[in-house]
Amino acid sequence: MTSTQSFWPVSHRDDDFWVCMSCLGEVYYRKVPMPECPSCHGVSTYEGFTLEAIRDWGTEDLIAKAVAAQQAAAVAQPAVESTASVEATD
Ligand SMILES: [Zn+2]
Repeated sequence: MTSTQSFWPVSHRDDDFWVCMSCLGEVYYRKVPMPECPSCHGVSTYEGFTLEAIRDWGTEDLIAKAVAAQQAAAVAQPAVESTASVEATD
């Protein structure tokens, strides 16, 4: 029943957070669940947003999920890209 959820990796420049527009209860960071939304089973219901946009209209729960998803991704994948400000240690 609880088999591993599969995801499509999505690489977008600005809209890193993918929200299910059908149930508005699922959000993922740089990936979308496949083949369907695990909550409402909608297909192709995900749209990309920035965290700022989600903070603007999202519920507390959705915002918390978005932040947690981003943190989880950051832990799993140490910053290889976009580390423009961290360089001088010499
Ligand atoms: Zn959904």
